[in-house]
Amino acid sequence: MQKSSIRWTSSTWNAIHGCSKVSDGCKHCYAMTLSLKNEWTKKDWTVSNESDNVMIKPHKLHEPYLLKTPSRVFVNSMSDMFHRTIPDWYRAVMWAVMLDTPQHTYQILTKRAKDLPEWNDRFIQAQQTDEYQYFATKVPNKVKKAMSTFYPTAWADHIWQGVSVEDERVLPRIKHLQSCGAKVRFISAEPLLGAWGDAVDLTGIHWVIVGGESGNHMGRQDDKDKNPRWMKQEWAREIKNHCVSQQVAYFYKQDSAHVTEMRPYLLEEDGTKWVWEQYPNDLTPPRRYGHDSEVVFGADETQVTAEMARKLANRAEHLAYKADGYLAENYAVASAYWYAKSFTPIKHYAPLISKPVVSQLPVTPLSQMVMFPF
Ligand code: SF4
Repeated sequence: MQKSSIRWTSSTWNAIHGCSKVSDGCKHCYAMTLSLKNEWTKKDWTVSNESDNVMIKPHKLHEPYLLKTPSRVFVNSMSDMFHRTIPDWYRAVMWAVMLDTPQHTYQILTKRAKDLPEWNDRFIQAQQTDEYQYFATKVPNKVKKAMSTFYPTAWADHIWQGVSVEDERVLPRIKHLQSCGAKVRFISAEPLLGAWGDAVDLTGIHWVIVGGESGNHMGRQDDKDKNPRWMKQEWAREIKNHCVSQQVAYFYKQDSAHVTEMRPYLLEEDGTKWVWEQYPNDLTPPRRYGHDSEVVFGADETQVTAEMARKLANRAEHLAYKADGYLAENYAVASAYWYAKSFTPIKHYAPLISKPVVSQLPVTPLSQMVMFPF
């Protein structure tokens, strides 16, 4: 179990690893990039390599029991729960653990949406297979206890099922999601690669997350060697309008950029910036982004280290490079502040930080600062 920097979740649980690409949204798969870099898998995540790349990780099955507080858990961020090489009996074991730990909220995202309508029946059958029964004798006690219960349904309030919809071509995934029995259904439109169109029926959908593509391949806007796929704000606005008119929660995650969570605001046609962070059954109104008095700072003064300050400085440099002046200044100020506190000299970031800005620091109360999730 790992803490996640994704804003809409808190931890990731990967009892399956590896996948194969199915649609354009997979082209720059973050999980594959990370996996190949760390040599967790050795081959490109193509269909022909899937038997080498997709693997189960039974030693991770017990991890939800280790979380001390109720958490949002993104399930299989390094794979796809419904990958065809994963047997139903193993999927059912993961499901039994989720059903046995209702204190957590599980967020499952798939591009194999066709499996969803039939999953409940398959789950019931899978619990009765010899493989499932045999495996129950091999797992740690907590998992064994979860598997000793027979579950008549896969779907519960704390298990959120989602599908990825990166453009209009894969809209049929929504229909599959709508016809499964999940109690909470959501859509991830990240990376959003094209408009959905103006007639999308979100009946039975509780939440839509929107975000542009991120990663080193995005490069600079003027980089001729790269082939970035920039999201248009009008696509994100159109989806927001669908959500608002159909009473569906909307979460705007990020713009397209070479790092994740860049420009976490929706740009309206009039140039105003809005933070949309709604969740299922929580339609908290959006708030204006970038108030004059706001400064980006660490969430807890006592926990900020020189390393974190260095990260802020790096972020300031990235933002300056992306010409996001307002945020770059905020990060630079925060960085300068924490460098000063840790008596570490500001080196090559110093030119980013103007003297008048630094002089404002002592009078800015922490309560007015935007919290930056490290
Ligand atoms: S389905 Fe998800 S994990 Fe699998 S290749 Fe595509 S983006 Fe990566």
